Amino acid sequence: MNREDIKRLFSDVAPIVRYDEPLRHHTTWRIGGPADVFVVPNHLDQIRDAVTRAKAEGIPVFVIGRGSNLLVKDGGIRGLVIKLGDDFSALDITGETLTALAGRGMVSAANIAIRHGLSGLEFATGIPGTVGGAVTMNAGAHGSEIKDVLYRASVLDQAGDVQDVDAAQLSFGYRRSAIVENGWTVLSATFHLHEGDPAQMQERVKAWSKRRQTTQPLSMPNCGSVFRNPPGDHAARLIEAAGLKNFQIGQAAISQRHANFIVNLGQASAIDALSVIMHAKVTVREQFGVDLVPEVKVVGEDEAGG
Ligand SMILES: Cc1cc2nc3c(=O)[nH]c(=O)nc-3n(C[C@H](O)[C@H](O)[C@H](O)COP(=O)(O)OP(=O)(O)OC[C@H]3O[C@@H](n4cnc5c(N)ncnc54)[C@H](O)[C@@H]3O)c2cc1C
Repeated sequence: MNREDIKRLFSDVAPIVRYDEPLRHHTTWRIGGPADVFVVPNHLDQIRDAVTRAKAEGIPVFVIGRGSNLLVKDGGIRGLVIKLGDDFSALDITGETLTALAGRGMVSAANIAIRHGLSGLEFATGIPGTVGGAVTMNAGAHGSEIKDVLYRASVLDQAGDVQDVDAAQLSFGYRRSAIVENGWTVLSATFHLHEGDPAQMQERVKAWSKRRQTTQPLSMPNCGSVFRNPPGDHAARLIEAAGLKNFQIGQAAISQRHANFIVNLGQASAIDALSVIMHAKVTVREQFGVDLVPEVKVVGEDEAGG
């Protein structure tokens, strides 16, 4: 199938279908080339329909959350990109169990839990992705991660069937899960929380938030931590010790405020960001013998001729 055929195939699959949609509009880094076809379904049947049509034609499918852990290359993503719409944000609390649809913001789900006196998700109040992205990435902070509180996820598999998968089946690791390798789309997640004092939780969350505000460059487009912390050390410490704060290529620069953040100064391309990543990696390896591994997921294709 050529690109035009692919576009036609999905033209009626969801209320919002866009072609050559710039993915920089859908990533927190404000970087990213176009998706051939970008659909925003608002019903499970629409996701299923899109996924099964794609599978039948061998067209790749990529599910995007808030793009807060993604570096989409300048050539963009071939095939279909699915972004769960606002209709995938319902949330229910029953006893000590919170279930949220995958398009719900993780910050909002965590804050609602706190208001209901439910503890366990406070760590996620500073993680700006969706519930689906947080489960996929096993997002974590302050010594806790999704796997500590997730009970079960509902996923759409590649055959178009919905499966309820226990957390134990998700092979969680450091910022990873089996979701991507299985080609699943997370539809919802159920968390087991426990009773807590809302005032105490608010207090803790406020202190963390204050620390983030002062130590992270949150007013500029970024993707959070670019590199994983190597065992027993911090990527930020190593990059800073290598003298790389403010190091800039094109419109991408290592943040003055936090050396494990690369900020988009305005019109950064993926090549700018990747070049800074590569330079930091090589310099830290040369100076300290440590191999930094990116935490941000690099997806998509290089620009033709780039
Ligand atoms: C300022 C800032 C601070 C951050 N702080 C933290 C932090 O403290 N801890 C931390 O762990 N991360 C942090 N992050 C990174 C990021 O927010 C998390 O990794 C987040 O969980 C990604 O969610 P997302 O919805 O944006 O996913 P995306 O970035 O859009 O996607 C990430 C991966 O998840 C997949 N995915 C997304 N939704 C679905 C779905 N419904 N079904 C199947 N696959 C899906 C994508 O295909 C991709 O592989 C931070 C980012 C920023 C910008």
